[in-house]
Amino acid sequence: MSADIKDRATPSALEVRGLCKSFDVSAPWLNRVIERRERQILRAVDDIDFNVPRGGCLSLVGESGCGKSTVARIVTGLHRPERGEMRFAPGNSGQPMTAQMIFQDPYASLNARWKVFDVIAEPLRELKLRSGKQAIRDRVNELLEVVGLSPADGAKYPHEFSGGQRQRISIARALASEPEFLVCDEPTSALDVSVQAQILNLMRSLQDELGLTYLFISHDLSVVRHMSDRIAVMYLGRIVEEAPTEVLFARTRHPYTQLLLDTIPDVRNPHRDRPLRGGEVPSPLNPPSGCSFHPRCPFADDRCKREKPKLMTCDDGAHIACHRVEESGGLPAGETVSA
Ligand code: SF4
Repeated sequence: MSADIKDRATPSALEVRGLCKSFDVSAPWLNRVIERRERQILRAVDDIDFNVPRGGCLSLVGESGCGKSTVARIVTGLHRPERGEMRFAPGNSGQPMTAQMIFQDPYASLNARWKVFDVIAEPLRELKLRSGKQAIRDRVNELLEVVGLSPADGAKYPHEFSGGQRQRISIARALASEPEFLVCDEPTSALDVSVQAQILNLMRSLQDELGLTYLFISHDLSVVRHMSDRIAVMYLGRIVEEAPTEVLFARTRHPYTQLLLDTIPDVRNPHRDRPLRGGEVPSPLNPPSGCSFHPRCPFADDRCKREKPKLMTCDDGAHIACHRVEESGGLPAGETVSA
């Protein structure tokens, strides 16, 4: 599928090709011998390609277990890829950019024993970005104000803050290392809906002010809609649809993307019937043959059970892995897949 993603006009901050990652989740050797069990390998990321547009936002979306957080961890260097290439473009310093991560859980990602000042000052000291107490203090105060907190908050401990405020502290800490590329792993999923909007608005305005590039991870298409320039939908370790945001919402083509859209609550019609189609995600330890979505897909036929669909390029910049879409020539503009 590598050849499919070549036609992006925007320069890329990050190009990823053929990325694979597996985990050995086997029981200990002795248990396997006694219980005559095979080794178990979990294919978390299976040959994916994507580009993150420079100064823009690519969102990876999918249900839990689809591999999106593994991708985030590979991009930030927390996991080593098994195969594939990752190429960061040069940043403002002329050196390849490095990615900083904003974690999902603002409760667990901050050291509860440190005051907020020290949490934010640590990268400044470690990376020698500021020297001298006053310069560090000025920068920490500046970062607290950038994320909508006050310099006085530096004297408090993380437990004295609400979830949204803690996520602001996490963002300030990430910004302390002066990154140009941020990987945001479900940064709002632990927060109340009203607070989610505030954090997303903050992230958007920081992107505009500081020229940041985001790789945004979420299970919720409605969250990423207003953040993203492009959206890549993942299912069981593979990208099944990748498109500019407006194209993906205007012409949803992959049946799995349609399923994700069907699960978004509708505030104008909160009691509408939203049939749960297709049941649970199959185990990634034993993925289905052919198109791994076929047990849940209302359009699955024999070919789907046999043959893995390739990611094909449509003339509106979308990339779809689905036999049905391929056979219909990518579907004409305005048409969407429906059951
Ligand atoms: Fe459904 Fe077949 Fe398309 Fe897979 S390839 S999404 S099973 S129609």
